[in-house]
Amino acid sequence: MNVLVYGAGQLAQMMYLAGAPLNLNVLAVDVANKTVVHPVEKTVLPQSLEQAINDADVLTVEFEHVPEELLLVAEESGKLSPNLQSILVGADRVREKHLLESLNIANCEHEIITDIAQLDGICERLGEKIIFKSSRDGYDGYGQWRSSTAADLPELKNIFTKLDLHKVPIVAEKMCPFTRELSLLGARNESGEIVVYPLAQNTHHEGQLHTSIAPAPLLSEALQAQALDIFTRLAEKLEYVGVLAVELFEHDGVLLVNELAPRVHNSGHWSMHGADTCQFENHLRAVCALPLGSTEHGPAAAMINIIGCNTFSKNFLSISGVHFHWYGKTVREKRKMGHINVTANSYADLADKFGNLSEYLPMEFFPKLLADADRIK
Ligand code: ATP
Ligand code: MG
Ligand code: MG
Repeated sequence: MNVLVYGAGQLAQMMYLAGAPLNLNVLAVDVANKTVVHPVEKTVLPQSLEQAINDADVLTVEFEHVPEELLLVAEESGKLSPNLQSILVGADRVREKHLLESLNIANCEHEIITDIAQLDGICERLGEKIIFKSSRDGYDGYGQWRSSTAADLPELKNIFTKLDLHKVPIVAEKMCPFTRELSLLGARNESGEIVVYPLAQNTHHEGQLHTSIAPAPLLSEALQAQALDIFTRLAEKLEYVGVLAVELFEHDGVLLVNELAPRVHNSGHWSMHGADTCQFENHLRAVCALPLGSTEHGPAAAMINIIGCNTFSKNFLSISGVHFHWYGKTVREKRKMGHINVTANSYADLADKFGNLSEYLPMEFFPKLLADADRIK
């Protein structure tokens, strides 16, 4: 079968690697240039996008911010999974909030700002600590502004005045004093079969994911059940096919949905070594109408992002259970360059391995690693 992925970054690359043993031929689309590219070599292939769509059995996405005109053509072919609605919900925080509200799924208190005048008195309504998120095109914390006191508002108003809020609203969210960030990844196929991974615990720095630990330490059955219920209601409502990621905040034992990603997700990379079937394979199985794979997992696994650096030796590979994935991108500040996966026999063992890794890696690029190690010891 031929699978065409919109987006030609690391997620398409890892789908390609997972697809090869299943005899699934994965190609990618560079959506900016509308060209077809090899997902690993990144070379432009001779076929036109139209030809590649015709040749494909399945069309899917590796990110939600695909230009709408391309998505409409993809949907028209009848081959797009997940469906257009699911991708549009993931790409637009206003649609996302409407979906959550319609299903009565808990999320952060918020207001949708379509007019600058709505900022008047907002601190009285949401409190002074607010996170303002552009409804479209944000990722890794880009397209966000934060206020810590009411005195920050005039400057934010200045910035927002220059934006077309009627066209692209801003979602103003009350900052949530969460205990921790978690994510639930799962897959659903056409016959309605659902599998989920254990909740992962995620550490962010400046709005960007740094590490994921799975299963999340101190994960109760009740919390996993809560997450499964949220996942199932969302996936069924959307008639979702593929891997869906649900980003969550845990607050007072309750899960609040932060956002949805209609695709494989950075916080699921640990599954490449820590689970029976990784997220990339399960996504391909789902969109290719194959039975889903078991998400059985070991006692403790982690993923550590390598962000904005490429100058280190790979000698950390001498640590058992440590694996490395490089995305082959040019280095840029705050850019995700690759990741390290770690599997361990226990959280204490995982913490030890984090400690070992810190001896090999320039720690300024991994600011949260040792804090995570302390937390799970
Ligand atoms: P991603 O790369 O995951 O797509 P994004 O740019 O879409 O990120 P969010 O996930 O909405 O943005 O926010 C990024 C991070 O900012 C969150 O993971 C969390 O750490 C923090 N954050 C977002 N919203 C809130 C909130 N309401 N309260 C507290 N922290 C928040
Ligand atoms: Mg996002
Ligand atoms: Mg996010």
